[in-house]
Amino acid sequence: MKYIVVTGGVLSGLGKGITASSIGRLLKSCGFDVTAIKIDPYLNCDAGTMSPFQHGEVFVLSDGSEVDLDLGNYERFLDVNLTGDHSITTGKVYRTVIEKERRGEYLGGTVQIIPHITNEIRNRIKTVSKNSGADIAIIELGGTVGDIESMPYLEAVRQLHIEVGDENLLFVHTTLVPFMGEQKTKPTQHSVKELRAIGIFPDIIVGRSHEPLEENIKRKISLFCDVPVRAVISAPDARNIYEVPLIIEEQRISEIILEKMHLRAYRRDLDQWRTFVKHLLNPGRSVTIAVIGKYIDLRDSYFSVTESLHHAGAREDTRVDILWIEAEELEKETPEASFRESEERLAGVNGIVVPGGFDERGTRGKLIAIRYARERKVPFIGLCLGFQLSVVEFCRNVIGLCSANSSEFERGSSDPVIDILPEQLGISSLGGTMRLGDHRVLISDGTLAHSIYGATEIFERHRHRYEVNPDYIDRIQAGGMIFSGRDEEGIRMEICELPDHPYFIASQFHPEFKSRPMRPTPMFHNLVIHALRHRGSEQ
Ligand code: GLN
Repeated sequence: MKYIVVTGGVLSGLGKGITASSIGRLLKSCGFDVTAIKIDPYLNCDAGTMSPFQHGEVFVLSDGSEVDLDLGNYERFLDVNLTGDHSITTGKVYRTVIEKERRGEYLGGTVQIIPHITNEIRNRIKTVSKNSGADIAIIELGGTVGDIESMPYLEAVRQLHIEVGDENLLFVHTTLVPFMGEQKTKPTQHSVKELRAIGIFPDIIVGRSHEPLEENIKRKISLFCDVPVRAVISAPDARNIYEVPLIIEEQRISEIILEKMHLRAYRRDLDQWRTFVKHLLNPGRSVTIAVIGKYIDLRDSYFSVTESLHHAGAREDTRVDILWIEAEELEKETPEASFRESEERLAGVNGIVVPGGFDERGTRGKLIAIRYARERKVPFIGLCLGFQLSVVEFCRNVIGLCSANSSEFERGSSDPVIDILPEQLGISSLGGTMRLGDHRVLISDGTLAHSIYGATEIFERHRHRYEVNPDYIDRIQAGGMIFSGRDEEGIRMEICELPDHPYFIASQFHPEFKSRPMRPTPMFHNLVIHALRHRGSEQ
């Protein structure tokens, strides 16, 4: 097993995850099986209880784990399916150690950060890497070198380095090279000094900067940080995250890694990736798709939705311009004034997405946008909350159930068309208690869902507490909305669609978690196809 540990210096938000994912992608293109582990030094057991304002989107894995969005990038860049074990948090590590102590497994010893916590970290890294069956494991250590909370992890990987040997573990340090009239190396020097004091000597330094690193700056970093010049890699701001593997490979990063690890590439195959990036960066045409959300200032909250739109666009050689709309801005005094506002704001868009979300804020605006998409026949997809609101909108404005609502927003609603899942009643703990992860969805023949998925059985990822109330299903279908996807028992509604609309489809699940760069997920892919048609008909 070979390990590549990626650390970060100077400040957070450098794109360490993208650097790590890009290295993984490159090694994969050399023919190796690559896996990834993300370490988050916070005390939460997982990201599930965190607000999107904290770390952006909560990503959901097939096994139902709720994890940091970086794991989404690993899945997309490496085209693998990870499990919850690939996300290590301080909460998980301490919980295991404390539970062991309570069971008396430490046989009367004093339980300490070194060696008990560090051993637990080391064991987790080794076990997960081994169980994944990969040749190479990329381990990204969240946070910044020098943070108190990352100390035990740095110590653990230092020990792991000694344990497995120099050729089996390589350190990549990602750092900031700011521009103050000229590129400055001092912050890099300081963060490397900090690492070396702990006993970690980086093999490769990736310098993040606006413009490419100048040659003399590379030489300076090499001299002060004791790495060969060719191992100082320039990572200037990219036009798109998927371009990063190509930028760092121009500097032969994979060759440096393979040399150090005594590995030989089986092949070098980046052609498909190159074509994908070309379609992303220089597409032949474009569409505008509105995303109606409520954390619009924080684009990271909708990371997978954005990526899915770009994957779908690239497949159609189309640039997807996203028009971000804050749902509350569509909410005016009266429904008619709100609708007029939506007419103004959404005029000219070729598609509309209403993504997932929690609690009532912004739902009125989302309902207006759904009504606009339905009545004006604008291609539309709804995801999770967007699915639930599509049902509410249909009940209110088509079937005439004026008080239809979700019981998430109105306890004791007289028409709770969206209601709490039976298994959620009585649950008081919030962590990991939703209906999560992959569930089988059965699709009815002859429906839109069937035609876009080309299958009658799919697995998609979920994260919800509410669902369509079975008492209303017959009435809704009699009104013209079709539930084209259901769970195995046929009682849980998974997909709805409108047959008299060119493209109106919504799902209880989150298809965006399974979209991959060269394999866009069908609901998004077809949204772009229909958006192109819509644009054609508008012109
Ligand atoms: N709030 C809704 C529920 O819990 C939708 C969740 C979501 O969009 N992820 O069911």
